[in-house]
Amino acid sequence: MRILLVEDELQLAGTLRAALERERFVVDFADRLSTAREAAALAAFELVLLDRTLPDGDGLSLVPVLRASNPGLAIIVLSARGDVSDRVAGLDEGADDYLIKPFSLDELLARIRAVRRRPADLANDDVRAGSLIFDLTNEEATIAGKRLDLPRRELRVLAALIRRRGRTVLRESLEQAVFGFDDEIQSNTLDSHISRLRRKLADAGAGVEIHAIRGVGYLLRGEA
Ligand code: CA
Repeated sequence: MRILLVEDELQLAGTLRAALERERFVVDFADRLSTAREAAALAAFELVLLDRTLPDGDGLSLVPVLRASNPGLAIIVLSARGDVSDRVAGLDEGADDYLIKPFSLDELLARIRAVRRRPADLANDDVRAGSLIFDLTNEEATIAGKRLDLPRRELRVLAALIRRRGRTVLRESLEQAVFGFDDEIQSNTLDSHISRLRRKLADAGAGVEIHAIRGVGYLLRGEA
């Protein structure tokens, strides 16, 4: 199994890496978000161990990006930020598990075994909102059995919103999930994708609404 370890405390990273390699995992290492994104784009990982407090931002902002490119990926957040709200944020963002630092190596290895035992297609569940059914694994939207034909980026926006339906998705998370890291993000581009998506969903009778939360992000809600 190939693991991406994202951690900026070099001593901890070295210890973890050695322990994981003793378990015969192949370990790649990144010490910041930007290098982690590059690594994830280049290689197929099965598991990401993700620190939160990184020099260039919160590790959690990477979760939607990783999920978008590899829905079956297991993600375990490793963080000293262990309040209930921090852990809820981590799991809501799509992490499979959240381990609070300091932790024992034995516990980490046990958690790794646990996430690996979960079916690889955990994310395969169809999500429903209004009359829209979204297949997260294949990124396909259907309404009454009819496939909704959407461009890839609009599908990505929809996937990110529907995964957290009823909750606000940060603008930054949407931009990262949609545009990746190699495109120039123009300030109105996300909004244009959203307005096209809204129109198409309404035309198709999806029964969902996408609300703008000013200055924060967007929220998708299905009509009851
Ligand atoms: Ca850190």
